[in-house]
Amino acid sequence: MKIFLPAITLLIISSHAFSQANDSGEIYEPVPALVTGVINGAPPSDAIVLFDGSNLDAWNRTEDDAPARWLIEDGAITVQRGVGTIKTRQAFGDIQLHVEFRPTDVIEGSGQGRGNSGVFLHSLYEVQVLDSWENDTYVNGQAGSIYKQRAPLVNVSRPPGQWQSYDIIFKAPVYSSAGRLESPAYVTIFQNGVLILNHFEILGATFTESPEYAARCGPYSQEQRIQDCSGKMPITLQDHGQIVSFRNIWVREL
Ligand code: MG
Repeated sequence: MKIFLPAITLLIISSHAFSQANDSGEIYEPVPALVTGVINGAPPSDAIVLFDGSNLDAWNRTEDDAPARWLIEDGAITVQRGVGTIKTRQAFGDIQLHVEFRPTDVIEGSGQGRGNSGVFLHSLYEVQVLDSWENDTYVNGQAGSIYKQRAPLVNVSRPPGQWQSYDIIFKAPVYSSAGRLESPAYVTIFQNGVLILNHFEILGATFTESPEYAARCGPYSQEQRIQDCSGKMPITLQDHGQIVSFRNIWVREL
């Protein structure tokens, strides 16, 4: 027999739901959402897919907001020299980001001139993409570094031409409505499944004189180095004039 309770009764029951532990230390609500995990490399069910191999609809060219024009081939996008850095059309705050990358195996340069690209969190903080397989450079500029801030804990880079992955947990900086920094950004990174940065406090925007935070409490500006106060900004992929491919890019908002 079904028992139908009046709405007011349901309201009372829900208001008594456990939001804190009961006397036995048990917590029953809220119940975590059901999410399908990564299966054979496919994104989790609650991920926002930024590139699935088919199109660049989620991306624009950074400099003028024109549609992104990187080469799409074999399920990957590849930087075309000079076509420009690209950014997501959607802005994000705290995220889990998965991106796979592959520096070309056609070796032309060395150091920073070999497989250089980058994943810019909030368009400002660069997680360096570089071919760091037997390729010396300053350590806070090698693959997996926060560029010119912190070297990765270890170098797990694969030979050029092989696919690699970053799984990035990013905590966005928090600003007051007046633009005062209340909490800096933090980042944790796994490269190829190995922890390479653990809750690193980002010192500020890449490419400032020395890393620093700056905020403008207005709409997102194209101007470099300026963080808006909304807590949300696009993710960008760098055109550094070298051939690097990306695939299977997805993000989860935290
Ligand atoms: Mg770079």
